Amino acid sequence: MSVSLPTTMRAVVVTAPDCFAVRDDVPVPRPGPGQALLRVMSTTICATDQKIVAGQFPGTRFPHIPGHEFAGEVVALGPGVDEVAVGDRVGVEVHVGCGRCARCREGLYQLCENYGRPEKGHAHIGFTVPGGLAEYVAVPVQALHRLPPTLSWDEGAFTDNIGIALYALERGRVQAGESVVVIGPGAFGALAVQVARALGAAPVVLLGTRPERLARLDYLGADAVIAARGEAALERVRAALGGRGADVVVEFAGTSDAARQAILLARRGGRVVLAGATGPGRELSGVDLSVIVRGHLDLCGSLANPRGISGRGLQLLARRSVDVRPLITHHFPLGAFAEAWATFVERRDGAIRVMLHPHGAPAEPPVAASARSGEETGR
Ligand SMILES: [Zn+2]
Ligand SMILES: [Zn+2]
Repeated sequence: MSVSLPTTMRAVVVTAPDCFAVRDDVPVPRPGPGQALLRVMSTTICATDQKIVAGQFPGTRFPHIPGHEFAGEVVALGPGVDEVAVGDRVGVEVHVGCGRCARCREGLYQLCENYGRPEKGHAHIGFTVPGGLAEYVAVPVQALHRLPPTLSWDEGAFTDNIGIALYALERGRVQAGESVVVIGPGAFGALAVQVARALGAAPVVLLGTRPERLARLDYLGADAVIAARGEAALERVRAALGGRGADVVVEFAGTSDAARQAILLARRGGRVVLAGATGPGRELSGVDLSVIVRGHLDLCGSLANPRGISGRGLQLLARRSVDVRPLITHHFPLGAFAEAWATFVERRDGAIRVMLHPHGAPAEPPVAASARSGEETGR
């Protein structure tokens, strides 16, 4: 069963590092066994897309269709698929492990030992296989989460992101009433603040360096929002915590400075989660090892999200304990991708998340429209 589909579609195609175009002659994919075809409604772009488009992501081969933060409607099913149905509204969790290796059997799809081997069943959607900056995309059903009916397509595009933020807090084993410091006021830091609050953490402190960015994040409900660098940052955060270190520090900035601050801001016996996107060549220096060892810190890295966590994260979005709408600063049709890209890369007009609409500005489903009772703004 499927709706009638065109044979070609519009998609962003990257052919070489930093060389991309919107093309209208890309074949519409046919869903293979275990896959569903999605009509993509909303796709955002993030800093990782910059690495992908620049040719700096090791697993990506050109030509490539990027896009890994998206939501859409199921329009066709591959052989053997009954987990979703045509017409379902779904968000996508982008790490699909092979399901066979030791790490996948622990649920750690993001650590799959068959990474980049589609013949083994691995797919990193928008990274090693085509993504959502296209009118249609075929994805394994393991990646799909049905969207709660109150969520818009744009909110659904945060399916993967909310899983990443929730996982970082769970790596820190946050308990109700514990203090949490989040470092890095990007989209993930913003999500982490709200997830921490949703889990009952208090107080929650957000630390960044740019006052103009932090000023936009008042709505998060952090108990303190601090723009500072170096020693002053440490002093001000400790003051906000009543002169103590934090029970849990979550770093989402991806810099050496932020990682160092995270370690120095934890209380003795506290937990430190380094979750910011990083890459080869960034080193951690300037930390006295006794801070970690004699401080008895639990220090862990957190990479992306394991199998299925986004489904739980979507419940936080559905009840608006985590509200992603203020993070969406711009909207463009897919045909204006070049302008959307420049807006994001140059952070024009305070851009945080730039939303692409492959099928034009989507009409929201009736439930979402009534639930939002006129608070939606025009695009
Ligand atoms: Zn991303
Ligand atoms: Zn695997």
